[in-house]
Amino acid sequence: MATGTLAQMALAAVPRRPQMLIGGKWVDSDSGETFATFNPATGEKLAEVPRGGTADVDRSVQAAQQAFPAWSRTEARERGKLVARIADKLREHADELGLLDALDSGNPYKAMKGDAILAAEFLDYFAGLALEIKGDTIPSPGNTLNFTLREPYGVVGRIIPFNHPIYFAGGKIGAPLVAGNTVILKPAEQTPLSALVMGKLIEGILPPGVLNIVTGDGPLTGETLVRHSGVRKVALTGGVETGRAVMRNAADAIKSVTLELGGKNPMIVFPDVNLEEAVESAVAGMNFGWCQGQSCGSTSRLFLHESIHDSFLEKLVARVRRIKIGSPLAEDTEMGSLISRDQYDKVMGYIELGKKEGARLVTGGKKLAGEEFARGFFVEPTVFDGVSMSMRLAREEIFGPVLSVLRWSNREQVIAEANQVVYGLTASIWTNDISLALDTARRVEAGYVWINGSSRHFFGAPFGGYKQSGLGKEESLEELLSYTQVKNINVNVRP
Ligand code: NAD
Repeated sequence: MATGTLAQMALAAVPRRPQMLIGGKWVDSDSGETFATFNPATGEKLAEVPRGGTADVDRSVQAAQQAFPAWSRTEARERGKLVARIADKLREHADELGLLDALDSGNPYKAMKGDAILAAEFLDYFAGLALEIKGDTIPSPGNTLNFTLREPYGVVGRIIPFNHPIYFAGGKIGAPLVAGNTVILKPAEQTPLSALVMGKLIEGILPPGVLNIVTGDGPLTGETLVRHSGVRKVALTGGVETGRAVMRNAADAIKSVTLELGGKNPMIVFPDVNLEEAVESAVAGMNFGWCQGQSCGSTSRLFLHESIHDSFLEKLVARVRRIKIGSPLAEDTEMGSLISRDQYDKVMGYIELGKKEGARLVTGGKKLAGEEFARGFFVEPTVFDGVSMSMRLAREEIFGPVLSVLRWSNREQVIAEANQVVYGLTASIWTNDISLALDTARRVEAGYVWINGSSRHFFGAPFGGYKQSGLGKEESLEELLSYTQVKNINVNVRP
């Protein structure tokens, strides 16, 4: 389809007057305040969205509390069936949601349509796990019966970031809802639209108050939600600093938190690999073509063995230069715009820093040329060589299309360097020697490790970070159970 037609369809998907969903009703913020959301590829304002404040968070908590008793007592299978109906809606409207997110986030439309479908798949996955919310029977003395129940927490605050708007808005409500909690979803301030549209699409599926959607920025709306005494659990997908704030604010009420945070993930390439395959994987691992490298799991530190370093780098640079960067709404676009001026400044700042620190810029590093890109935040896919772990470039999460190449010769040292960051989310290891691969996988400090692969997630495989990359696991049974608390019951059985 022509880009012009897609642009018209995308604009048609933008809600004319976005409102928040609280207690089954569409409402403005109590204060009447709004904030603007923009198309980062053009700088155009898309909509004014309610800025949820204390009164709105209060209202949403009350609505969620009122809905909780009936929802938690609804049969788990029935909850699963309703969640699966949400999945159907997302699948049915994947085009519209993908176009909307392409406008609101700058990510390529095709990737965002894929995200809507992925969200539906995760909802289906959790719907299918409904009967796994079960307890244990514990061997107990004499005439006693001892068993556990898994019970929902109550009201859950679900706070999500900007990089995969509909994937997170849809996919991350499945587990808490199926587990019997009621949810307050807070989308990112940069990308609030698709969550609100999802709310409209699924109207009538869930009882009022079971899912509430409150928009606003982090410190105001997010913090109020985390601090609220009526919210019994908070799950954040976001940055490490935000994770710290959430933990601190949850501490007063000793609230359960799940934190899915940032990464600075290593990909370690041994000399025996198929170079073409590994180069493809290095590019896929960076998520250049999904969200411009703005991904927590991006393998942004590429450790190349010295014996293959030059030939690998040559192929890598050639491949990276073929990535098609352009309008998020063009069918053939592989890489779109960064999310905002702030993110653009941050990424360009790191590129300048890398040069100052003595790394060698081998490709990219500039804003995309051309009148049509002038008001957007398009940064070329960028590769630095000659990076060392003493550089901030190698230690800090950039969250953008910047790949650092480090050369290695000694395996002990490369493992130590891979672990020399505060993060520990993902890692990728490339070798055909299975013993070497497994030994390295066990020694690398990361929660999700690919051997001869990268970037792909697997349903049911627990995803989550070590060290400062987070607390808890998602995308798996562990995620579902993390939205339950265990009650033990002991019965004295009368003989
Ligand atoms: P962010 O931390 O700035 O914001 C995430 C969400 O938290 C937003 O909804 C924001 O409004 C809210 N927020 C901000 N401050 C808050 C506070 N004090 N209290 C409560 N809520 C608050 O992150 P971002 O810029 O939207 O996303 C980028 C970050 O997210 C990166 O660090 C990335 O690695 C991380 N991320 C992690 C995963 C994962 O699964 N581990 C996935 C995607 C993104």
